[in-house]
Amino acid sequence: MGRIKKILDKHRIRGEILVAVSGGKDSMALLHALNEISKVEDSIGITAFHINLGIYDYSQKSEDVVKKFAKEIGVVLITYYLKKEIGHTIPEIARTSRRPPCAVCGIIKRWVFNKVAYENGFDYVATGHNIDDVSTILLKALLTQDIYTIIRAQSEFSPPKIDMKLVGRIRPQFYLSEMENRLYVELNNIPVIEEACPLSIGATTHKYRSIWDSILRMNPASQINLVRSILKLRSQMIVDEPQLVQCKKCGYPTESKAGICAFCRLMERVHRTGE
Ligand code: SF4
Ligand code: ZN
Repeated sequence: MGRIKKILDKHRIRGEILVAVSGGKDSMALLHALNEISKVEDSIGITAFHINLGIYDYSQKSEDVVKKFAKEIGVVLITYYLKKEIGHTIPEIARTSRRPPCAVCGIIKRWVFNKVAYENGFDYVATGHNIDDVSTILLKALLTQDIYTIIRAQSEFSPPKIDMKLVGRIRPQFYLSEMENRLYVELNNIPVIEEACPLSIGATTHKYRSIWDSILRMNPASQINLVRSILKLRSQMIVDEPQLVQCKKCGYPTESKAGICAFCRLMERVHRTGE
């Protein structure tokens, strides 16, 4: 909790935070820690936010565990049902668009978090990204020459741009490992969904993640070092700041030159192909 508080203090985070909670150990630990902080910090308020992604039984089990825990600790929970709100579940969108489930899931979650937070007047969205997630994304980007991801690498804090309908983003567990979050949930008796998302099987990120096992045995600080190195290098690069424009369809921000955001492009593809 101390390290999460440090991140909030470093960026002077105050106001209303929408905490994205999937039911997994990282986000459940985050919800617990932020709730504890909000009890002693009057200027911080939190609300839990869960998206039911419509992934078979897994989504129902995830929703149940989040609901139960939010009630137990007395935190207001907003639940967003993807099927009801946008007409499709993640498996349907992945099938129709012929894109990997995790890729479409990422696009949709980012858009929904920002929209719900903006429409409900939240100052920040907090997500449970940990150092294992972040370092794996960057390692994969390095090994596949995905320069765009490296240049656009996000740190633990992205400031809001409210005139562009962009809510601030905080990743308070950015430098915490999955193991540390696991320990936190065990010590605090926090319920979590133990099973993995069925759509994660075969995801390429998992294969890259396993590379870390042997590197970490050699140097336990290597994940943090890789992320810090890339963020430092990036801060020294002269790169054009991406020009944000409002999406011509939904009105939320996008860097797309065509002026249509990734979410709306994906939905167009789904509707064109039809289900
Ligand atoms: Fe979405 Fe992939 Fe995570 Fe499943 S594993 S919840 S599809 S990002
Ligand atoms: Zn859009």
